[in-house]
Amino acid sequence: MKLLIWLVIVALVVAWIMRSKKAPVQNEGGIRQSQDVGGHLKPEAMLQCARCGTYFPASEAVTLASGRVFCSEEHRRQAVPGD
Ligand SMILES: [Zn+2]
Repeated sequence: MKLLIWLVIVALVVAWIMRSKKAPVQNEGGIRQSQDVGGHLKPEAMLQCARCGTYFPASEAVTLASGRVFCSEEHRRQAVPGD
């Protein structure tokens, strides 16, 4: 009977350790989330269109393999005819 009680105690301790190991991972996720929110507040990198010279957010960039960037798919086609 004593052995059974010890097995239960060990199982509870193991379960408690597993929980405490998982907790920091959840906290990291929370920190990452708040960092993402902060990232949205930062000004986004601006790129200049190789076709019209307009500055636009990097997230809207149409990029060529050569590294040239354009504000739109239309300007990319105009700059690279036949592509
Ligand atoms: Zn453009």
